[in-house]
Amino acid sequence: MSPYPNLLSPLDLGFTTLRNRVLMGSMHTGLEDKAAHFPELAEYYAERARGGVGLIVTGGFAPNKTGWLLPLASKLTTSAEARQHRQLTAPVHEAGGKIALQVLHAGRYAYHPLSVSASSIKAPINPFRPRALTNHGVKQQINAFANCAALAREAGYDGVEIMGSEGYLINQFLAERTNKRTDAWGGTPEKRRRFAVEIVKRIREKAGDDFIIIYRLSMLDLVPGGQRWEDVVALAQEVESAGATIINTGIGWHEARVPTIVTSVPRAAFTWVTGKLKPHVGIPVVTSNRINMPQVAEEALSNGDADLVSMARPFLADPEWIRKAETGREDEINTCIACNQACLDHAFKRKLVSCMVNPRAGHETTLTLAPTRRSKHVAVVGAGPAGLSTATALAERGHSVELFEADDEIGGQFGIARKIPGKEEFAETIRYYRRRVAVTGVKLHLGTRVTAGDLTGFDEVVLATGVAPRVPSLPGIDHPKVLSYVDVVRHGKPVGERVAVIGAGGIGVDVSEFLTHTGSPALDLDAWMAEWGVTDPEQAAGGLTERRPEPSPRQVFLLQRKKSGIGSGLGKTSGWVHRAALKAKRVEQITGVTYERIDDDGLHITVDGKPRLLEVDTVVVCAGQEPVRDLADALRAAGLPVHLIGGADVAAELDAKRAIDQGTRLAATL
Ligand code: FAD
Ligand code: NAP
Ligand code: SF4
Repeated sequence: MSPYPNLLSPLDLGFTTLRNRVLMGSMHTGLEDKAAHFPELAEYYAERARGGVGLIVTGGFAPNKTGWLLPLASKLTTSAEARQHRQLTAPVHEAGGKIALQVLHAGRYAYHPLSVSASSIKAPINPFRPRALTNHGVKQQINAFANCAALAREAGYDGVEIMGSEGYLINQFLAERTNKRTDAWGGTPEKRRRFAVEIVKRIREKAGDDFIIIYRLSMLDLVPGGQRWEDVVALAQEVESAGATIINTGIGWHEARVPTIVTSVPRAAFTWVTGKLKPHVGIPVVTSNRINMPQVAEEALSNGDADLVSMARPFLADPEWIRKAETGREDEINTCIACNQACLDHAFKRKLVSCMVNPRAGHETTLTLAPTRRSKHVAVVGAGPAGLSTATALAERGHSVELFEADDEIGGQFGIARKIPGKEEFAETIRYYRRRVAVTGVKLHLGTRVTAGDLTGFDEVVLATGVAPRVPSLPGIDHPKVLSYVDVVRHGKPVGERVAVIGAGGIGVDVSEFLTHTGSPALDLDAWMAEWGVTDPEQAAGGLTERRPEPSPRQVFLLQRKKSGIGSGLGKTSGWVHRAALKAKRVEQITGVTYERIDDDGLHITVDGKPRLLEVDTVVVCAGQEPVRDLADALRAAGLPVHLIGGADVAAELDAKRAIDQGTRLAATL
């Protein structure tokens, strides 16, 4: 008996059957924008279909140029384009999967001057003011959606997903916030819904009865002036009557100031919203957001919140997610830890989307781990992210690998990261690698700090010895009140009620969150909702209420020498969340600091030429890191081929994305 009877059971839609209850949610990878990249995109989808995904939803394709997210972005408007799409649909079908095209009209989120919307109101996250559509213009947009769906059918897609959430055009028609019209398309909730409902109707007419129409419905807008719950329910019922096959859940507009998918959002944080809608409709509903492991997905289905689950990033992290769940190998799943570092942050920088824990994502045709023709005996020193990715990928290719780790546990700095409130998911990567080491047959030596002399007899040596905290030269740095982030987070050394944090990079910000957290576990859903002001949409339109964060148990000062904003180097999609969290905990952020000295009175600094004493009990140093690579010279002198990776190679601007990517790429070539 499968532990996931709901998740893995087929779903009969009447005219077609999905092989399980898993929908791979839409993600724009960057490969959609040019047909020249379709062969790579085809392999990316095919790998996920072979891995068992029931229904794949593509990245968004605009139904016309006004709907483009960016100039020359993906669109489907001609038969010639539809023919190109056959390259994508055929391999998915060969692998037994199904695929739907997402039709996305950006509306006022379009990053170009052609943008249109219900009313001419600029989005707070976009410099382009949209043109308000005329009555004729609205009808043209509806036709464009229907044509796009008909072309999708021509291209071999099993259906379409209509993007009706996240604050895109359809959502802009639905909410009073963005729809100030007084004609047939605005003025009352009924009239604001008409655009969405007409689109579904026209698509059903044009694409036929045996075509899946998923409507992605914004159940929680999370913006002021969002939809009331009764309007959300009415929309779902009208969309069903208009011919939708499935309703998918959308949570939060892009301009919302509530995080909806980053790692500090508790798992399955929004399935209750889908569960609240489900009794009001007769068609299957899909739940989504922060579902990343089979048990979480199964629970959402077995407790009756939904009929299907949507997961997007988990399939970047592991294309074999379903197969592993089916065969009782869930401990082998490479879990998406919701860091956004290589997926959404790349998308915002217009870089190809990939995955921090799986650098092959989006590079399936170029980064392959083919079996080696000549097996070598390889030593990998250091079991942080860099060493773990190298060792396991080398072993997968057939090399004989020994992995040496000074600590008594694998993980390196990830072992510290996972202790930060809201970063608990990082433990999953350590669990994944622990299992992967066993499965691939890497010989692991824990508690073994190697010297150059221990490494004779290997064909190759990979040094993944990582980094050590930098100790700034500052009078009083050896004062007993000074601790490193390792002392505080890893070793749990006691910290006073007034604390100064030196260094406001990623680690300084994390440590400040660690120090200001107390009370409820970080991933407690009620506490998280109170912190971010999320509530039942029946209580407040859009599900947004006043924030009530738990107070910090101590006063924290977060300092840096640069004048730039604190956390400005953090990822686009997570940096603002960290900044808002620090503000809520009243962390005093001071930039342009000169450190003078530390003594019994506290930390003496100068800011804008004025001396200031921070009367603190503890100073925590998070001043960056230095590479640990003292073995390299001795090994080279002994004539051994040495490869430096991760922090041991370059400590500046190191993150786990670079460490894992570099390790995997080295392993692919040895
Ligand atoms: P390390 O993780 O430093 O691993 C090196 C390993 O080598 C260690 O386990 C060490 O014990 C071992 N070693 C050293 N010398 C020897 C020897 N002679 N013999 C045997 N073993 C040896 N990165 C992100 O990308 N995103 C984040 O959100 C993030 N958050 C972080 C939060 C915190 C609090 C911290 C501390 C780090 C965070 N990082 C984050 C950084 C990330 O953890 C590092 O970039 C990454 O761990 C570097 O990997 P590495 O393998 O190069 O080195
Ligand atoms: P970092 O981002 O380089 O930050 C180091 C901080 O120390 C900076 O604020 C720097 O600012 C300060 N500093 C540097 N030298 C100093 C000195 N001699 N004296 C006093 N202050 C000094 O490094 P990190 O915070 O250690 O993080 C390491 C890596 O882990 C980062 O590159 C980051 O990518 C990764 N990480 C990422 C995340 C994430 O959420 N994505 C989270 C944690 C860590 P000033 O020079 O202006 O003072
Ligand atoms: Fe998940 Fe991070 Fe990979 Fe994105 S980069 S898929 S968030 S693990």
